[in-house]
Amino acid sequence: MNRSESLFEQAQKTIPGGVNSPVRAFKGVGGTPVFIDHADGAYLYDVDGKRYIDYVGSWGPMILGHNHPEIRAAVLAAVEKGLSYGAPTASEVEMAELVCEILPSVDQIRMVNSGTEATMSALRLARGFTQRDKFIKFEGCYHGHADCLLVKAGSGMLTFGEPTSPGVPADFAKHTLTADYNKLDSVKALFEANPDDIAAVILEPVAGNMNCIPPVPGFLEGLRALCDQYGALLIIDEVMTGFRVALDCAHGHYGVKPDLVCLGKVIGGGMPVGAFGGRADVMAHLAPNGPVYQAGTLSGNPVAMAAGKAQLKLLQRPGLHDELAAKTETLIKGFKAAADKHGVPMAINYVGGMFGFFFTDEAEVTTFEQVSKCNMDHFKAFFHGMLDEGVNLAPSAFEAGFLSMAHSDEDIAATIDAADRVLAKIAA
Ligand code: PLP
Repeated sequence: MNRSESLFEQAQKTIPGGVNSPVRAFKGVGGTPVFIDHADGAYLYDVDGKRYIDYVGSWGPMILGHNHPEIRAAVLAAVEKGLSYGAPTASEVEMAELVCEILPSVDQIRMVNSGTEATMSALRLARGFTQRDKFIKFEGCYHGHADCLLVKAGSGMLTFGEPTSPGVPADFAKHTLTADYNKLDSVKALFEANPDDIAAVILEPVAGNMNCIPPVPGFLEGLRALCDQYGALLIIDEVMTGFRVALDCAHGHYGVKPDLVCLGKVIGGGMPVGAFGGRADVMAHLAPNGPVYQAGTLSGNPVAMAAGKAQLKLLQRPGLHDELAAKTETLIKGFKAAADKHGVPMAINYVGGMFGFFFTDEAEVTTFEQVSKCNMDHFKAFFHGMLDEGVNLAPSAFEAGFLSMAHSDEDIAATIDAADRVLAKIAA
C-alpha cells in the first residue's frame, strides 16, 4: 500500500468519504485519490514523491502556476501584519478598484469567501431588487451548493448521478426553473410561461461543469435580450471563467453585458475567495445601504486580498491571455491528433485557458445531452492512463481542464506524448 492509499484509508474514518469536496474522491473514475504534498509551477508532487503535470490547477485558481513567487511573497507580507481584522482595510479598497477598473460591467463589488457565497448572494440580491422569486438556470451548470442552485447542477452532481440533492426542500426548488444550455428557445418558453415572475437568469458563460461547452453564437446575446424584455437580471457566473477566458472575463470576450457578475477562483490566487458585483443601482440594494442582507466574518480577508491582487496585477500583462490561449490550443489539438491517429473518436472544445475533450462520434459538442452520452469507459481509461504517466486531469468527465502560464512547451509536448501512448492502449 502506498502512502496515498494508507492516507485515504485513514481519512475515511474521520472525514466523510475521506475528502472535503466530493469530486476529489475519484468516485467517477474509480481508484484511490492522490494525496498531494506540495506544488510548484505546472507540477503537483504527491506524498509518495511522484510528480504530475497538473491540468486541474486547484480547479481553476492557479492560472499562473502553483506557488507563484510573487503571490507567495504578497501573502507572506500580509501574514506578517495580521491574519484577519473584521474591519475595513485599504487592501479591500484596492481590490475593489482593481476589479472595477478591469471590468467595465462592475460598478461595485462585494467580497465573499467562496464561489457558492457569490452566486447565492447575487441571486438573493436579484430577487430582492426585482421583488420576484423565480429564476432560470441551465441543466448541467453548477453554481455552488446553495439549496436553490443544487437543482440539475453539473460537475460533482453529475458524477454522482443525482440531478438534485436530497435535503433541498421541494418548496425551495420550485422557484428554480431549468432550461437547456445553448438552446435559447427553452429560455424563451420559460419566460413566456412566467412573464412577471422571473428575477434572473444565471449561467456559466462557458459551461465548465459539464466538461467544457462554449456558448453558441447568439446564445448570450439572446439571453441579454430576453432579460431586458421581461425585466429580469442577467447574472453571469464567472467563478470559473473569470480572468481565465480573457482578462475582461468571458462576458468581455463574447461582448455581453451582465447586470451582476460572480467571481471566485482566479480572483483569490488560491486563497478562499469569491465576489459578486455589477450595476450600481442593483448593488445599492445590498446591506448596509439597502435591505438585502449579506455578510461575512472573514470577507475581504487581508491575506486573501493580498493573494488575489498580486495575481490580478500579474494577469494584466498585455498578451498574457493570448499566450495562455495558444498553449491551450496546442495541448487540446495534440490530444485530438493523437485520438485521430489511433482511431479513438474524440471531439474537443477550448477557449482561453479552458479545454474539454469528449469521447464521442459527434463532430461538435454544444449541449448537455451530447455530453451525457459520451463514452465513460474511454474517459476512465484515459484518466487513469494519464495519471500513471504523471499527468493530472480532473477525475470526472464533467469538468473542464485548465492550463496555466507555468506550462512550458516541453510540458505540453510531454503531455501529448503521454496521451498518444494512452490512446494507443485504448484503441488496442
Ligand atoms: N460557480 C461556478 C461556475 C463554479 O465552477 C463553482 C465551483 O466550481 C462555483 C460557482 C462554486 O464555487 P466554490 O466551490 O468556491 O464554492
